Amino acid sequence: MAEKVVIIGSGPAGWSAAIYAARASLSPLVFEGTVKPEMIPLGQLAYTTEVENYPGFPFGNIHDFVRSAVDQDRHWNLPEPPDHKKDGQFHYAVQGLELMELMKQQALNFDTRVVEDDIVDIDLSSKPYKVIPAQGEPIETHAIIVATGARANYLGLPSEEEYKNKGVSACAVCDGALFIFHNKPLAVVGAGDSAVEEAAYLANLKTAEKVHMIVRRDEMRASKIMQKRAMDHPKIEIHWNTVVDEVLGDGNLVTGLKLKSTKDDSTRELAVGGMFVAIGHTPNTSFLHEKLTTNDKGYIKWTKAFRTDTSVEGVFAAGDVADDYYRQAITSAGTGCMAALDVERWLAEKGIE
Ligand SMILES: Cc1cc2nc3c(=O)[nH]c(=O)nc-3n(C[C@H](O)[C@H](O)[C@H](O)COP(=O)(O)OP(=O)(O)OC[C@H]3O[C@@H](n4cnc5c(N)ncnc54)[C@H](O)[C@@H]3O)c2cc1C
Repeated sequence: MAEKVVIIGSGPAGWSAAIYAARASLSPLVFEGTVKPEMIPLGQLAYTTEVENYPGFPFGNIHDFVRSAVDQDRHWNLPEPPDHKKDGQFHYAVQGLELMELMKQQALNFDTRVVEDDIVDIDLSSKPYKVIPAQGEPIETHAIIVATGARANYLGLPSEEEYKNKGVSACAVCDGALFIFHNKPLAVVGAGDSAVEEAAYLANLKTAEKVHMIVRRDEMRASKIMQKRAMDHPKIEIHWNTVVDEVLGDGNLVTGLKLKSTKDDSTRELAVGGMFVAIGHTPNTSFLHEKLTTNDKGYIKWTKAFRTDTSVEGVFAAGDVADDYYRQAITSAGTGCMAALDVERWLAEKGIE
């Protein structure tokens, strides 16, 4: 018998969709994405430490709560708590992996089934649709929620990899307010609208000192109005014709950048406490083989206002894979919820029980 709904992806969008679908008695089947090296089981937040902006998780004794809520057999996946204590107890904002294990737990507590596999193709040529896993047999399903997220693009430098979460970030809104960046000069790499947005966001923080924009060419890709915003900002300095050659650090945190001129290859050092890479994201849509309409950046297109419908009826999209603008855990969770409600209503309309 065909599944009512298959959810592809195990980030905030996937688990929120699962929680709502399970509570609506749709018994969702979630493919976590665990096989190919580019998969991130539990989504992008698995790559980060403390998450300070997810509502409902202020600093506190998160440690005991998380361990009391998550099934014992997954405690191995919970990170060591940061060394912050108050009155002898751990006192910190929830960590990315903890938050994701809690979301997974909440879905499992209702009737969610989980498959540790990737989807490598989908067949939308006849109904019920089919999803094709990397390892298992094809599964028939009436509805699909695509919640496969996106990956931030990085420069690809070994030193950049070494300092991820230690001063290298790809999200100013997520990380800019973290203590490690307070009152330090920071760098933003990139020249598009989002690079300017990241730079302005950082420069407007109360804790901002100065923001250096590192721009490869002698002009920006950003719109004129955004360029003006960067150029007129008293705390933003633009370094034209410049690329990052190496991220410098003391082993614990970023301390500077080695910059290279694209004109004459000369190098120099710039003291910064953080580098924010803003050179775009790549949505995880290759397994769709262009069977859903995407926008010019490759993100799945939502075809109705305030709904998660895609170009194919019965297929819905949630989270970063369809959102090139907000890209936050809370917005992904929000559209995950919407997708599950959209599926429920669509199945009811079609008389599928
Ligand atoms: C380092 C870092 C720090 C961040 N910090 C914050 C923060 O503090 N606050 C905040 O709100 N946001 C933060 N974000 C952004 C946030 O993580 C994302 O907006 C959010 O995770 C997107 O959720 P999602 O469910 O749409 O996708 P993702 O979290 O990207 O999850 C996608 C899931 O789909 C799976 N998948 C992909 N392809 C397939 C396939 N073919 N088959 C099966 N599964 C597949 C992946 O394995 C993954 O599990 C941060 C991001 C990063 C990278």
